Amino acid sequence: DNKLFSLAKEVIQKLEIHGYQAYIVGGAVRDSLLQRSVGDIDIATSAFPDEVQNIFPKVIPTGIQHGTVMVRYQSVSFEVTTFRTESAYSDSRRPDQVKFVSNLIEDLARRDFTMNAIAMDHSKCLIDPFAGQQDIDNKLIRTVGDANDRFREDALRMMRAIRFQSQLGFEIDRSALVSIEKNSPLMRNISIERIATEWEKMIKGDHFHIAKQTLIETGLYRFLPIISNHQVVKILKNTMISFPSFSAFIAYMHIKVNDILISDWTQQWKLSNQLKKESKLLVHLLQDYHKEEIAWVVYNLPEQLMEDFYLVLILCTDTSFSLSQLKMIKRSLPIKNRNKLIINGSDIVAFFPEREKGAWIHELLLRIEKAVVTGRLENSKKAIREWLHDDQ
Ligand code: ATP
Ligand code: MG
Repeated sequence: DNKLFSLAKEVIQKLEIHGYQAYIVGGAVRDSLLQRSVGDIDIATSAFPDEVQNIFPKVIPTGIQHGTVMVRYQSVSFEVTTFRTESAYSDSRRPDQVKFVSNLIEDLARRDFTMNAIAMDHSKCLIDPFAGQQDIDNKLIRTVGDANDRFREDALRMMRAIRFQSQLGFEIDRSALVSIEKNSPLMRNISIERIATEWEKMIKGDHFHIAKQTLIETGLYRFLPIISNHQVVKILKNTMISFPSFSAFIAYMHIKVNDILISDWTQQWKLSNQLKKESKLLVHLLQDYHKEEIAWVVYNLPEQLMEDFYLVLILCTDTSFSLSQLKMIKRSLPIKNRNKLIINGSDIVAFFPEREKGAWIHELLLRIEKAVVTGRLENSKKAIREWLHDDQ
């Protein structure tokens, strides 16, 4: 994080040398005050995007219309955004137009919560016009200005309040809570892609058990696709832990509420095919867990889904395995994948020259693979030949 901040300082100083103002803003300032690890650093500046492009050699125009460019500096990316306000909201969706402004304070004033509206200059001095530090000390999520106004401007902020509660364990200010209760129908105006981004961060939060309570008590859940289903809320009410990923969440919900399919989730939430594939695999492997040997289950479980699977496993079964046991079983498998099997389809055909080709080849190969993976058959041509001989 120190490395990150000192690179950000260099970026800021380059802008300053050219006569512009520049500050670290948003999540990075908040998280550093909380001594949490900082993901990426956003910089707000008085320079316009084209002026930023003139100063740095590597600039990617990621959102010019909103005044944002991505500056690559020493292999680190910084999102650099021109001071702006968001004016004329007509439908609680998105600002109709962004208006560039010359000063930092106005830029901070458009931000959602006081803890996100603190700026840090090149010498780490804080500019905190809305007393965000005090709210951080009091662990309080408070809107910049009137909650009703701010939630009506952009209804996603209600969801963001709850996801920050999940990540930080903060309380949401009383008037903001009342306002969410009142304004939650405005969530209908928000694109599902924006909601999904916040949802994913929320379910991963350490304090999800508190956040989901807020989601239910304020009634906001009623305006989220599928979550509004009474069976789904019931499950959510009884879920006391957070999820390592959206796929684990969907797999778990599908296992609990069978008639809502994985494809319903991915369609209504407009999720990627990758996520759909992962969720399906998790469900499939949980079914396998009930009827196959554990070695075969972890063999089919990709390394990067181990934790997701384990979570689903402890939520849905009374397993006595620990995650490290599963990892150990996976590490000590006789083969890691099908390519490591000493024989293939043509070997099988050669072994049964009289038989006509067909689905049996694949089936037999699968049985051999399973026998090898579970340690019942050695992965050698000789052993497999004998096994085939005895088998027939
Ligand atoms: P994270 O660590 O999850 O990235 P973050 O605070 O950086 O948290 P972002 O979504 O990356 O959140 O947004 C960056 C900053 O932009 C926020 O800190 C906030 O100041 C401002 N912001 C983002 N979304 C909104 C919004 N909908 N309304 C007002 N301000 C917003
Ligand atoms: Mg951020």
